[in-house]
Amino acid sequence: MENVIIIGTGAAGLTAAIYTARANLNPLVIEGREPGGQLTTTTEVENFPGFENGIMGPELMDIMRKQAARFGTRYQYGTVESCSLEGPVKTLTLDSGETLEAKAVIICTGASAKYLGLPSEQALIGYGVTSCATCDGAFYRDVPVAVVGGGDSAMEEATFLTRFASKVYLIHRRGEFRASQIMIDRMNANEKIEVLYNTVVEEVLGVEEKSVKGLKLKNVKSGESSELAVDGFFLAIGHKPNTDPFKGQLEMDETGYLITDSTKTTLDGVFAAGDVQDSVYRQAISAAGTGCMAALEAERYLERTDHA
Ligand code: NAP
Repeated sequence: MENVIIIGTGAAGLTAAIYTARANLNPLVIEGREPGGQLTTTTEVENFPGFENGIMGPELMDIMRKQAARFGTRYQYGTVESCSLEGPVKTLTLDSGETLEAKAVIICTGASAKYLGLPSEQALIGYGVTSCATCDGAFYRDVPVAVVGGGDSAMEEATFLTRFASKVYLIHRRGEFRASQIMIDRMNANEKIEVLYNTVVEEVLGVEEKSVKGLKLKNVKSGESSELAVDGFFLAIGHKPNTDPFKGQLEMDETGYLITDSTKTTLDGVFAAGDVQDSVYRQAISAAGTGCMAALEAERYLERTDHA
């Protein structure tokens, strides 16, 4: 049986791994479908302390991964499909069918990109519809693209995409952005970006052709419909916490975020850190901070229960 299994390899999971490995707990980290978490789908990270000139998201995660490995962290590829978390022995079942047992579990499964849910959008995912500008931006050289959203991610993605695209339309459902002013200013200063306020996407065009040809838009103020020719459609409308395997076992809020007291979940020996339990701050540094806290709390739990 493992001492501690950490699920997820974002900033929270890898920080929990560094701490539990240095505490000689020999952690096993389950690495899911998006190794490195959301930071691997971002560009430059300018607000992680210690990097005066910024660092690329994937590089930061690679360094954290190696740092955790240096102290003996083991990694196993897989996705947790179901689990039994009550009692002193926690059981996790992976998509491969393998079952793992641990005395403590730290859940750091993060959150995944949200989609609008339009049938045409769903049909074209991977064919011009994407939620990752960093991953796919370079495919859209010298063609127009659109980004939907009004938060920091939308500002960042729209600005990043101007490196490749001939024009970037930023579509937002309201008349003002929720993004931070510095990100809005940067976006506004970019002549390649045109903002379409009070506008919603009703359909992604190109389903027959199996490639995005444009968008059917509606201005929610005037009620007017229009079509916009674009070759790529980028979603930046926030994230959904990855908590499906824990439903019915751990308490969650109405959106699915795990409810924690510090990093303790509602079951003994089960801790959660990072975006899976944080709908407010959602920053790499706060995820890393809660990863550290979860590791220390897991360590104390193991000390207490092993000596009981
Ligand atoms: P977010 O702040 O939750 O913003 C989501 C945006 O998508 C909102 O503008 C929202 O519109 C819009 N939206 C949501 N559902 C929609 C729908 N069905 N149709 C159309 N629009 C929809 O998410 P985020 O931008 O991903 O940012 C998440 C967190 O990460 C934030 O705390 C942010 O500060 C942080 N972040 C920081 C950086 C950075 O500092 N470099 C970069 C990226 C993200 P409404 O405004 O109308 O609700």
